[in-house]
Parts: sequence; structure tokens; C-alpha cells
Amino acid sequence: MPAVRPEGIRIALDGPAASGKGTVARAVARALGYRYLDTGAMYRAVALQAERRGVAWSDAPGLAALAEQLPLDFRWDGATLAVLLDGQDVTEQVRSQRVGQGASAVAVHPPVRAALVRRQQALAARGGVVVDGRDIGTVVLPDAELKVYLDASPGERARRRHAELVARDPRGAPPLAQVLAEVNARDAQDSGRATGPLSVAADAVVVDTTALDIPQAIQAVLALARARGA
Ligand code: C5P
Repeated sequence: MPAVRPEGIRIALDGPAASGKGTVARAVARALGYRYLDTGAMYRAVALQAERRGVAWSDAPGLAALAEQLPLDFRWDGATLAVLLDGQDVTEQVRSQRVGQGASAVAVHPPVRAALVRRQQALAARGGVVVDGRDIGTVVLPDAELKVYLDASPGERARRRHAELVARDPRGAPPLAQVLAEVNARDAQDSGRATGPLSVAADAVVVDTTALDIPQAIQAVLALARARGA
């Protein structure tokens, strides 16, 4: 008998950079009255904290110590997620391209992953949660009630990320070609690492969003979730 989760099913949502995971995860959690756990924000917070404490992104033992003690809190109001580090709201700061690259760099170190995976498992244990990341269906919640792998072509993901950057800063946004190069580099790093690489769990449902808009992607995942008892 599978364990009964008091607050609902656990939905693992994995996929590459700029696949729309975050947007879809947030909307699905909101529609179901579930919590949303953004595991990428945890790796991003480690990278940011390392920078603040003068710990290099290559220093595995130093980073592991930071990850173990990370004063990180999430505040989910049912629609938006705030990321608090040392009590300070760093939601915007952790979303920068630079911190994203730092996240990908710190995420290669097994002791950093082990510390964050433990925390993620504890946060998801009661169920009623949508967890997004790279290794949720494979490592963090291998027995999740629903696993979705959200994909889109690299060109489409770069186009979406570029549009987001332009919306945020029309003058400062990098050219599309540079965003595409960064998407490809992040894919290679996330798929190529030895521990917790980006990969499709054997029992995951692959949702290709290349030709879907955001509401369609949300509806697709919601339909799967409802079919699994959400
Ligand atoms: O999803 P997001 O872009 O915020 O993730 C930032 C980085 O954190 C990813 O490029 C990846 O290297 C790392 N990450 C990870 N495992 C997760 C979530 C994110 O390695 N579960």
C-alpha cells in the first residue's frame, strides 16, 4: 500500500532550463491549493550565499557546509513564492543569469546535492506539493505519485527566456544568440554531471511544450494530476 499523504499527492516536475517548469508548477499548485517547492531556488541561494561569504563555486567542502546551514525560507502565499535568505527577500536576486550559472556550478558537487535533497524530501513529505527541478522524479521523490518531464526545443526555450529578459530590461537584455548559447551550455552541464543529472525518469510523462502556450501546458499537467487523484 502506498503511504497516504495527508495533504495530497506529490507532483515531480522536471525539465531543462527555460522549459516553463516554474510557471507551470506555480500555476498547477495554485489551481490545486497545493504548495510549490522551487528546488532551483535552493541551488541558486547556495550560489548567492557563497558569493556573499567569499566561498568559491568550485569549493565543494566549503559549499557543502554552507548548504547544510543555509538560512533559507520560502514564503508561499498560494500564488507567488518568495525566497528568503538570512531573513532577507532575495527572490529577484536569485533569478539573475549570473546566479543561475552559479547554481549550475554549485549543483555539480555531490555533498551540496545531498544536503539540499534531504531538505527537499522533508519539505515534500506531507504531500500536497508541486516540486520542480532536474532530479525530482529520479532522486528526490522517486516514488512521487505523478512525474512530469516538461520539455521544449532549445531554440524555443531560448526564445522564451530572451522575451522574459527583454520584458524585464529592454535595453540591457543580451542578444538571442547569446541566450541560446547559455541555454545550450546549461543543458550540457545539467545533463552531463555524474550526480543527479537532468534525465527523464522511466515512469515520467513527457509533455513537450514547444508547440503549446503556457495555459495549454498548465492544463496538460493539471489533467494528469487530477487523473492521479489530486
Ligand atoms: O531551475 P533553475 O534554473 O532555477 O535551476 C538553476 C540550476 O540549479 C540548474 O541549472 C541546475 O544546475 C540546478 N538544479 C539542480 N537540481 C535541481 C534544481 C536545480 O541541479 N533539482
